Amino acid sequence: MNSPKSVLQVAIVGGGIAGVALALDLHRHQHLDVQLFEAAPAFGEVGAGVSFGANAVRAIEGLGIGKPYEQIADRTAQPWQDIWFEWRRGVDAGYLGASIAEGVGQSSVHRADFLDALASQLPEGIAVFGKRAVSVDETGDRVSVQFTDGTHHQCDLLIAADGIKSSIRDYVLQGLGQPLVAPRFSGTCAYRGMIDSSQLRDAYRAAGVDEHLINVPQMYLGLDAHILTFPVKQGRLINVVAFVSDRTDANPVWPADKPWVKNTTQAEMLEAFSEWGDAVRVLLECIPNPTLWALHELDELSGYVHGRVGLIGDAAHAMLPHQGAGAGQGLEDAWLLARLLADPRVLQRDAKQVLEVYDAIRRPRACRVQRTSWEAGELYEFRDAKVADQEPLLSTTLASRFDWLWNHDMQADLAEAHTRLGWAQAV
Ligand SMILES: Cc1cc2nc3c(=O)[nH]c(=O)nc-3n(C[C@H](O)[C@H](O)[C@H](O)COP(=O)(O)OP(=O)(O)OC[C@H]3O[C@@H](n4cnc5c(N)ncnc54)[C@H](O)[C@@H]3O)c2cc1C
Repeated sequence: MNSPKSVLQVAIVGGGIAGVALALDLHRHQHLDVQLFEAAPAFGEVGAGVSFGANAVRAIEGLGIGKPYEQIADRTAQPWQDIWFEWRRGVDAGYLGASIAEGVGQSSVHRADFLDALASQLPEGIAVFGKRAVSVDETGDRVSVQFTDGTHHQCDLLIAADGIKSSIRDYVLQGLGQPLVAPRFSGTCAYRGMIDSSQLRDAYRAAGVDEHLINVPQMYLGLDAHILTFPVKQGRLINVVAFVSDRTDANPVWPADKPWVKNTTQAEMLEAFSEWGDAVRVLLECIPNPTLWALHELDELSGYVHGRVGLIGDAAHAMLPHQGAGAGQGLEDAWLLARLLADPRVLQRDAKQVLEVYDAIRRPRACRVQRTSWEAGELYEFRDAKVADQEPLLSTTLASRFDWLWNHDMQADLAEAHTRLGWAQAV
């Protein structure tokens, strides 16, 4: 056993939502010395919306960032405040049902605002920019991470939060003797855009489309395609994501030299939904310059941790966005890891064991969320083998299929982690 340390040095690679949320919690504890390394010259997120389920909102509160989140987050107005999404047919906007998340409904935020709100709470000196990690090695109980600028950093624990293209995932999988896992194209592409909600209101009025479709988050469903809308920036903008899937190839490949995100034309997007009804047509006509995203995901990993190196967020479990859950899972990772590292008993214990417990508890749930996110896309696009396009079955299935995800008991996870670490008794 190592002699007890007075400070544990933790390095985080990657300053997206997962990495910054973790750094924000860890820096508050005196026995932790935290450094975050981000490849870009500054923190940055795309100008789009992100929504959080009840589980993710609880993680945000648990990470001590509930207040700044609340100040910038959107909630649907009463009496629809508990609706996550209303489900509608794409062809005529006919109502199929709704998913209810009591007390939370649809909680959404502009990504850049959220990351700004988090980053502004991080004291100077914790984040270092322009540091792209390329490799890792461990000697004894120290980890060293190397950067493209030729420098390196040593620490006791390294947490990789560097996204789906993680530079550290291979190190972990190799260390575990497992095959490497690369991002895989899903066959689904997404057109994205933001609309000024007053412009959409005028356009809906002019076309005789019900304005309720702006007031409440909507999901329009169809064969091999679906569209979601929800408000951000206190309802001033409507976030739109229009998904189109090509299922003709069971193993679709995205060419290595093609970017995952590009600008595209409104005409191409309108053509993809040309059979759909007025509510969708008018919506898409309000997006003159959409972007097109080739959606990639990871296979479920057989481990998130090797030695003193752990993966969190998309580096560990990048998934399709069909349950609005990817960032939320990164926040759950950050929450559990932060609760364990924030406990001073971590100094008396080999920190490797803390990471192993994190892996044992978080991985089964994150893998299930990955799996069910893919399945949700099949369901929305009438490709679920049991449900297909049978509307009554579709609405009953959609009404309850997210409950397990939102109602997860993170305190029970923490209690189990404590038991596994022999920390079950109070300090
Ligand atoms: C269309 C779409 C819609 C989505 N909608 C939702 C939603 O509504 N709700 C939800 O919960 N999730 C959603 N997601 C998923 C969500 O966006 C991701 O799960 C989340 O942003 C991942 O955060 P992260 O911090 O793990 O990784 P990232 O956001 O990818 O951040 C990684 C960071 O690491 C940095 N980095 C990368 N490589 C290195 C390196 N080698 N060295 C140093 N730094 C590095 C990057 O610059 C970046 O800042 C959606 C995804 C898509 C594509």
